Amino acid sequence: MRIDKLLANMGYGSRKDVKKLLKQGAVIVNECIVKDSKQHVMPDKDEIYVNDEPVIYNEFAYFMLNKPKGVISATEDESQKTVLDLLKPKDAIHHLFPVGRLDKNTTGLLLITNDGQLAHQLLSPKHHVEKTYIAHISGVVTEEDVKYFRKGVKLEDGYVTLPSQLEIINSAAISEVKITITEGKFHQIKRMFLAVGKKVIDLKRLTMGPLVLDEKLKQGEYRPLTKEEIEKLY
Ligand code: URA
Repeated sequence: MRIDKLLANMGYGSRKDVKKLLKQGAVIVNECIVKDSKQHVMPDKDEIYVNDEPVIYNEFAYFMLNKPKGVISATEDESQKTVLDLLKPKDAIHHLFPVGRLDKNTTGLLLITNDGQLAHQLLSPKHHVEKTYIAHISGVVTEEDVKYFRKGVKLEDGYVTLPSQLEIINSAAISEVKITITEGKFHQIKRMFLAVGKKVIDLKRLTMGPLVLDEKLKQGEYRPLTKEEIEKLY
């Protein structure tokens, strides 16, 4: 792979920025200064340093974000802030994308990666990956709702959802619930509650498959997945 492509992919800036670094003599490959941006390197074999820091090559990157309200789960948008805009420049490597979508006002667990195969595994409707959310609901959530959600909820367009698990944490004028679904229809949880005459006030995702939101992450914060977390996802 060309050195300029590798370093640009790894977040060292645009190709133009990388060219500048090369020109400055900041890039060392196997103990030799490399100035030619066309130079080919083997990222998993060659020893590469930029500004005396080793370049650790990982084919894939995996980040867990605690998504805040007000940002959209997209890779780019002309007018709105996206979840990728929350990444530090060094982490904003090429081809990252959020795995699945959370609504603009939903918070919580969002996996960001460039591993398309893993994303497919987590999102494929065939795999029924469980996603758990905590929600506050305007209206008294009842045991009837729990039974109905378990059976499958008929949405306004006639679609009947797969069985979901609804757990009432607190039933009051504003109820608190935990809900686990295994599919990802547009605004699914909001529409499920609308089908029983109630409104979701806020929604936070806690888990996706084996991945659990690190509660140490404040909204807007993120961290790389640990080796164990990545292994569990595969
Ligand atoms: N269901 C919703 O309604 N919104 C989300 O963001 C996720 C699930």
